[in-house]
Amino acid sequence: MKFNEIDFDTYFKNYPDKDGFFGKYGGSFIPEELKEAIKEINDAYQTICKSSKFISELRRIRKEFQGRPTPISHLERLSKSIGNGVQIYVKREDLNHTGAHKLNHCMGEALLAKYMGKKKVIAETGAGQHGVALATAAAYFGLECDIYMGSVDIKKQAPNVARMKILGARVIEVTDGLKTLKEAVDAAFAAYLKEYKTSIYCIGSVVGPHPFPMLVRDFQSVVGIEAREQFLLMTGELPDAVVACVGGGSNAMGIFSGFLNYPVDIYGVEPLGRGKKLGDHAASLTYGSEGIMHGFNSIMLKDENGNPAPVYSIASGLDYPSSGPEHAFLRDLGRVKYDVVDDSETVDAFFKLSRLEGIIPAIESSHAIAYAIKLAKKMNKGSILVNLSGRGDKDMDYIIEKYGDSEYFKE
Ligand SMILES: *Cc1c(COP(=O)(O)O)cnc(C)c1O
Repeated sequence: MKFNEIDFDTYFKNYPDKDGFFGKYGGSFIPEELKEAIKEINDAYQTICKSSKFISELRRIRKEFQGRPTPISHLERLSKSIGNGVQIYVKREDLNHTGAHKLNHCMGEALLAKYMGKKKVIAETGAGQHGVALATAAAYFGLECDIYMGSVDIKKQAPNVARMKILGARVIEVTDGLKTLKEAVDAAFAAYLKEYKTSIYCIGSVVGPHPFPMLVRDFQSVVGIEAREQFLLMTGELPDAVVACVGGGSNAMGIFSGFLNYPVDIYGVEPLGRGKKLGDHAASLTYGSEGIMHGFNSIMLKDENGNPAPVYSIASGLDYPSSGPEHAFLRDLGRVKYDVVDDSETVDAFFKLSRLEGIIPAIESSHAIAYAIKLAKKMNKGSILVNLSGRGDKDMDYIIEKYGDSEYFKE
């Protein structure tokens, strides 16, 4: 299928190019001293990802450990409540082991570490979701795992810190600057630079310098490949629309990659948070502009000095001032449409899905559900497939604190 001069039949061969560019986005903007280490990961990945031993081992792990394929569920009661015949379906990444899609790329990254003969995986984490998924993968493969985390986040995310420690990871407190994600990224890279001969750095989404946006997309593409086959088998046709929430953009790239070459409308949903004012949202593709941060060129939200702006989202997993370069590329092409939902629409969708379907979604995923409900109301027939990126167990404390006394609990 051709779309604005891009041939999607050969898309995955051509994008990114050998330097990691999706059009003008992506690339690798890193300090000279990191180049050798990152090149080693790229070279190893290019070889290992084609080895049939690696592919079959990853396949076996997905089936026997992660519980893949995850099912697709038809949301009959939610669809009926909209009432115009449009049918909504969800790809159940909440049923992937550890309760979200993140394990898909963490298992891939840790298996790559094993094939490269590394002893340790290193990463930073903000809310702790990436740290927990990576600690899980490290435990499975018997790798050491060092997770860098700001002290502010360590205090806020006690259950995830405990999970990482139970899984055998070392959680290293970062006390510089604002003591949150940005400082943790810097500390993790500094540590990696010192130990790159025996360790590998594992990123948490389709962001960062080449090859990470490609490597994470490739590992997540299992979601889209499964979903397309399952949806065809269930309904005899393709969905009319596919919807996913976008933070860094890994769950979205996962499901989108299965449908880019098919006549399906694709929507990425960003968090509008409290509103359009800078600092009140994290909708980088909707309101941002081109810029380089964290080693790659993409669309980002900037402050008056051109630095990454402070962002806000009710969902800690979407709280990032940029998105993966491939999303910026697909946005400019017009192949994927990016739009927003705000906090209150999201919370409404969180309770609706729980009550009508018996699925408590992650607040991140609730953004995609909220958008699908709005989209369904605008369509007058057809079907929508939503990537339900994770389950809501991790959000219980927040929901009780914020909404425990609200109408939602009184209804
Ligand atoms: C981390 C997370 C996200 C956001 O990450 P992406 O890379 O944008 O997919 C979305 N949903 C859940 C459940 C998450 O844990």
